[in-house]
Amino acid sequence: MPLPAHNTHTPARTVFLRLAGIIPIILFLSGWGFHAHKTINYYAVFALPQPLQTFYQKHHEEIRELAVRPDQMRNTNPAEAPRHYIDLEYYLELSGFQPGITWEKIRKLAGDSVYQWGTLPWTIQHTYTKLVDAFRNQDVSQIIWWSAILGHYVADAHVPLHTTVNYDGQLTNQHGIHALWESRIPEYFSHQWDSIVGPAHYITDLNDWIWQIILTSHSKVDSVLHTERLAREQFTGNTDTTILTTYSERRIPSRAFCAYYDSLMNHLVERRWRKAIHAVASIWYSAWVDAGHPTLPGMPSATSPTHH
Ligand SMILES: [Zn+2]
Repeated sequence: MPLPAHNTHTPARTVFLRLAGIIPIILFLSGWGFHAHKTINYYAVFALPQPLQTFYQKHHEEIRELAVRPDQMRNTNPAEAPRHYIDLEYYLELSGFQPGITWEKIRKLAGDSVYQWGTLPWTIQHTYTKLVDAFRNQDVSQIIWWSAILGHYVADAHVPLHTTVNYDGQLTNQHGIHALWESRIPEYFSHQWDSIVGPAHYITDLNDWIWQIILTSHSKVDSVLHTERLAREQFTGNTDTTILTTYSERRIPSRAFCAYYDSLMNHLVERRWRKAIHAVASIWYSAWVDAGHPTLPGMPSATSPTHH
C-alpha cells in the first residue's frame, strides 16, 4: 500500500542563546528518539524464545542500528511521514469508522486524507506481512531489515502523542512536549529502567492487538498533556537548560523538570517503553510462527516450537 506524506511529527524548536553552562549533547529528534528506538529493538531480542533469540542475537547490532531507519527515510521519502502516527480524532469523527477497520475500507471512507491523518496501524499490518514473507523465504537480510522497521512502527504506536492531532501540544500552547516525552525522558532516565521484559507471546488477532495498543496510547493523551501543564505550574526549579548540539545551542527541558513531570505521570514513559519492548518481541515471534517457524542459519535445527 502506498503511504504518502505530510508534516513532520517532531518539530525541532531551536532557540539560539548565548549562555554559560552548556551541556554538550548530540540531539536526535524523531519518533521515540533515536536512542529510544535503538534501545527498544535491542531489548526486544532478549524477550524472544529460543531458538529465535539465538538467531536474532547474531544480528543484534543491525537490529539496533536499523531501528532508526524509518525516521531517516522521512528526509528522503515524502511517503514515509504518515506511517509513524495516527491523528485518531479525525478518524473518530468519520461516520462509518470503527477501530480495526481494514485498509481498503478506510481508503474508501477517508480517501487521500489518510495520508494527512496518519496510517500507523495499517502500516504495522503491512510491514508485518513483509516480515512473514521474509521468514517464509528464509531471507536473512530481509528478516533483519523488516524486523527492525516493524520494531520502529510498533514502538511509535506506544507513544500517546503519536495518536493525536495535538501531537506536539501545539493546540494547547505546550509546544515541545513531543520531544520532552519521547526523547528527553528516555535519554535522561532509561538507563535506570528495567528493560528486561518478557517472554514474548504469540499474537492471535493481529488487527485487534494493534488497535488495542493505539487506543490505549490515545487514552493517555489527556493525562500526558494535563500533567505537563500541572508540572510546569508546580515545579519551582529551572524547567529548561541549554545544550550544545552539533551546530547550535538549544534550550531543552532540564533533567530535574523531566524527573518531576515523570513522577507526576507515575512513570508512564517507562511503562509504555516496557510495553513497547514486549510488543516488538511478540510481533517478531508471531511473524516467525505464522511463517511456519522456519529454521534459520545459526539456529539449532531440532526444535519443536509451540504457539505459546
Ligand atoms: Zn517514528
